[in-house]
Formats: sequence, structure tokens, C-alpha cells
Amino acid sequence: EAPLVTTSFTPADESEFSLRPKRLTEYNGQEKVKENLSVYIEAARRRNEPLDHVLLYGPPGLGKTTLAGVIANEMGVHIRVTSGPAIEKAGDLAALLTNLSEGDILFIDEIHRLNTAVEEILYPAMEDFAIDIIVGKGPSANSIRLDLPRFTLIGATTRAGQLSAPLRDRFGVSFRLELYTPEELCRIITRSAALMGMRIDADGAMELASRSRGTPRIANRMLRRVRDFAQLYYDGVITREAADHALGKLEVDKLGLDATDRRMLTAIIRYYNGGPVGLETLAATIGEEAVTLEDVYEPYLMQIGFLTRTPRGRCVTQLAYDHLHLQNNNAEQL
Ligand code: ADP
Repeated sequence: EAPLVTTSFTPADESEFSLRPKRLTEYNGQEKVKENLSVYIEAARRRNEPLDHVLLYGPPGLGKTTLAGVIANEMGVHIRVTSGPAIEKAGDLAALLTNLSEGDILFIDEIHRLNTAVEEILYPAMEDFAIDIIVGKGPSANSIRLDLPRFTLIGATTRAGQLSAPLRDRFGVSFRLELYTPEELCRIITRSAALMGMRIDADGAMELASRSRGTPRIANRMLRRVRDFAQLYYDGVITREAADHALGKLEVDKLGLDATDRRMLTAIIRYYNGGPVGLETLAATIGEEAVTLEDVYEPYLMQIGFLTRTPRGRCVTQLAYDHLHLQNNNAEQL
């Protein structure tokens, strides 16, 4: 079985497609983002113009791809979905761009992973809706400018800081998606359960919500895993007991921490006396990738106040010691 917490979409998440909200009103949470977006969308529609280029950033599984689809629906335009690593050559991007129709949305996931040659095609495309193509070779080579339909680029990335400055500057608007509150996740879980034809009670939904680390993708994954337990032992209803039983088996604790979170926190305490420790050093210590720790694990640990980032490295807080039942030797003795 795949782990619950991963950097990316997995084949088991296939059913997500049917769970994706289509309209802004169905899209739970991210209230500030929705509020601003609906103004931009309405204004663009009234002017009969494409929406400004939009950058969405935030940890994986928070709904960036989903939101891009929602924007396309609200604008009443087509969306083409691709990703940074999938666009290998400048020509690949040129082909994508020239196939767009007026007003279409091009969604590029993991846009920070575009290579430089491709990125350079994107600049004039975003700015002037044109690309420059070199024809011929050597001294007779010529650059011709090709006009593109006016389109909207929606880029998604886990961290805005990973983007090159010239690319970042070409987005008219950028939105940071936040981790969801348990109440918002509760609504998402209840909605997903209904779409999957599963029965869940309010306590069961809240139990899953408070253990899915602020992330809808993880909430939906948990829902699928809990389903089996509910069918076998709980008359097909996801109750608090059913959720607790299943999540216990999956080694997800009361706060949604998994084995990697615990290894990470314990390592900082055991080997670095609570920190500070540099990210790379910590990653090597526990045998994980630094980017995975930074993009996937840290946002939630910081949100629940277990981890802080300082200029000298990561530190755990007293809350983490308490949660792990470990003695803090640095604490002032009362
Ligand atoms: P990202 O692109 O940020 O990695 P996705 O857009 O793929 O995340 O979202 C993962 C899944 O979580 C979606 O398939 C969808 O079912 C669910 N989801 C995400 N955001 C929301 C939301 N605001 N409301 C309801 N479901 C959501």
C-alpha cells in the first residue's frame, strides 16, 4: 500500500478526478483566494478578456490543480494540463501554445521545473502573446515572430521561492494556498463520502479531518482506506471508532503525524538536542529527501507549532516533546 503522505499524485488517487469540485461554490475553504479570484474572473468576463496569468503555490494536495479547473469552468474556457518536467524542449511548448484557442487556459504544474530554454519561450508568450521562432541555420538564420491567441497561464508550484524572478514577475496575480482547517476538511470529507456512496457520521468525519494534516488529498486517501474497516466491522458506517481503528492500523496518530514525522522530530531531539539543525543534515540523518521534508512534512509540523525555522536551522518546540513523551533537557527546571 502506498503511504498516505507523499509528494505527489499516485495511481490510487485516480478517483480524485470524480471528487474534484467544478465550481467556485463547491470548492471548500481558501476563502480569501476565492474572494479575490471571483472578482478577477467577473471583471475579465465583463471586459470579455482572458484572465491575467495566475500563479498558485502551496504544499502538494491542497487543490491547485482543482482550482485551475474551477477557474476554467467559471471563465467558460478550455483548459490544457501539463507539467514542467513534461515539457522537454522549446518546441514542445511552442506546439502547446500555438494549439490554444483565444481565452484558453494553459495549466503548468510544477512550473519551477521548466528548463531555461523552455522558460525563455514562455516570457514573450506571457507578455506579448507571441513567440519567436528561429528558422534556418548559420548566417542565414532568421527569427520570425508568431502571434498567439490571448491565453491565460496558470502555474502551480510548491514554493514560489523556487521560481526564477523573471518568470515570477510575469504573473499578474499569485495566490498562496493555505492548509485547511479541520472544519473545512470535515466538509470536504462529507462531500467526498457522499460522492463515493459511503456513509459517515459527523464524529467520523471530524476524526478524519483532524488527522489529515490540513490536506484534502490526504483526507480523501484516508476516506478510501477507512471504508474497508467500516464495511467489515462497523456496519458500513464511518464512525469515530471506525476511523480511529483504521488510522491506528495505518500508524497515523491523533494529530495526523505518521512514522516519518515522528522520526524527524525524534531525530532533532535525540541527535541535535532539539535543534537547530540544518535541513540537509536532518534529511541525511533520517534518510529522506530534503525537498520532501520541506514541502510535505514541515508545513504541517509548523502549523501545529511543533517545529520552528530559524536562520540556523530547524528546532522542535516543547509541544513536540510533550506529544512524543520525551524529556526536554533544555527546559528550565521549575
Ligand atoms: P494539488 O494540485 O495542489 O496537488 P489537487 O488539486 O490535485 O492538489 O487536489 C487534490 C484533491 O483534493 C482533489 O482531487 C480534490 O478531490 C480534493 N480537493 C482539493 N481542494 C479541494 C477543495 N477546496 N474542496 C474540495 N475538494 C478539494
